[in-house]
Amino acid sequence: MNIRRDALHPNRAEMANWSGSLVFRPRFLEAPRSEDEVAAIVRQAARRGLKVRPTGRLHSSSPIIAADDVAVSMGNMSGVFEHDAEERWALVGAGTPLDEMGRDLNDIGLATHNLGDINVQTVGGAVSTCTHGSGRRLTNLATMLIGGRMVTADGEAREIGSDIIPAARGSMGTLGLFTALKLRLLPRYRLRRREWCTTLDACFGQLEELSRRCRNLDMYWYPRSDRVKLRILDPPGEGRERIGGARLVLEREGWSNEVLSRKRVLRFDEMEYAVPIEAGPECFLEIRKRIMERHRRAVGWRVLYRYVAADDAYLSTAYGRDTVTISLHQNNTLPYGEYFDDIERIFLRYGGRPHWGKKHSLGAEELEPLYPRWAEFRRLRRKLDPDGVFLTDYMSRLLEGEG
Ligand SMILES: Cc1cc2nc3c(=O)[nH]c(=O)nc-3n(C[C@H](O)[C@H](O)[C@H](O)COP(=O)(O)OP(=O)(O)OC[C@H]3O[C@@H](n4cnc5c(N)ncnc54)[C@H](O)[C@@H]3O)c2cc1C
Repeated sequence: MNIRRDALHPNRAEMANWSGSLVFRPRFLEAPRSEDEVAAIVRQAARRGLKVRPTGRLHSSSPIIAADDVAVSMGNMSGVFEHDAEERWALVGAGTPLDEMGRDLNDIGLATHNLGDINVQTVGGAVSTCTHGSGRRLTNLATMLIGGRMVTADGEAREIGSDIIPAARGSMGTLGLFTALKLRLLPRYRLRRREWCTTLDACFGQLEELSRRCRNLDMYWYPRSDRVKLRILDPPGEGRERIGGARLVLEREGWSNEVLSRKRVLRFDEMEYAVPIEAGPECFLEIRKRIMERHRRAVGWRVLYRYVAADDAYLSTAYGRDTVTISLHQNNTLPYGEYFDDIERIFLRYGGRPHWGKKHSLGAEELEPLYPRWAEFRRLRRKLDPDGVFLTDYMSRLLEGEG
């Protein structure tokens, strides 16, 4: 069906990301309900020389979501369209929130291999930024992508073929607008979530061993108290019953989609870098020292330490290396600039790669040496979008070093 659209819809309202630190006002705001509508929007925008930015749930805090011209909210492209429980895949709308998707998949006996700290993001947003959870043997969520459909800058809908997949994972809406994503999944599984309170001195020496033995492990360090929370998930009946020097404060069992993520009420801004796994402990200890010396009074909240397995997506923050991610969380009512800028210099000395959806200051010049397949990504992006329909000024600075 070809839907005629005579005009884009003018927008007068401001849009803001989840934390409120990023505000923008696109000239047009679209919320397509079908692939044909997505294609019509892109064609019109391209004809009029307008820049297009797809958005999910606006949980990113870097300007990868900011549109001056056309913002396309993908939230109506939602649901599980097809699946094969035996072959372990599903085709889902790119705007499906991960929590809804998790429930629908569970009903048909399937599950994602992991989830991040929260699960309200859209699957399109998560795949586009290489959103990850924590687990030494677990890759980021973008690696689930094995096919699907997208609308490219020429306004044509096409399959996401195997030639595009390594670039599409983590592409931040610069190759096209995903309409449906085919995901590689697992049979549904149960997990036991346990949270332990301890101190850094008591647990840090055990972290390496714990990370090898537990399915999911992450560590929160609270600078104000210098205390630590370990969050560990294992299949029921497996995992450690005791952790030296730590007190069990929560235990809960459920399907993976029910227990992997938490709800976040307190709003915060965040900087996160991915460093090689071997460098993780030293990088963290240097950051801790610096926070204690310079930022302890200004830091409102916590630092999160996680593991992500290596993958081969061109712009994955875990490309080619097992990874530790370290995130700085600052309440959104408090200033973060000086704190993040200072710690960013430490991340960079450890070869850190910034999370695409969180605060950082890098542009293409600094990013290119960090990504061995940068040139291939750029070639493909230029081929699919020669006129830069999906390149806002920020995306241009990020990926092309222009603007
Ligand atoms: C409270 C909180 C907790 C978080 N926890 C984690 C975590 O545990 N792990 C982690 O790695 N990250 C985490 N993040 C970051 C978050 O997962 C990413 O920023 C994610 O991209 C947000 O998804 P979204 O649906 O809000 O997408 P948006 O932020 O709206 O968009 C993100 C990117 O995806 C693109 N995009 C969106 N939809 C499409 C589409 N259909 N086609 C093409 N491109 C598209 C956008 O253009 C943009 O570049 C967290 C963020 C917050 C605020």
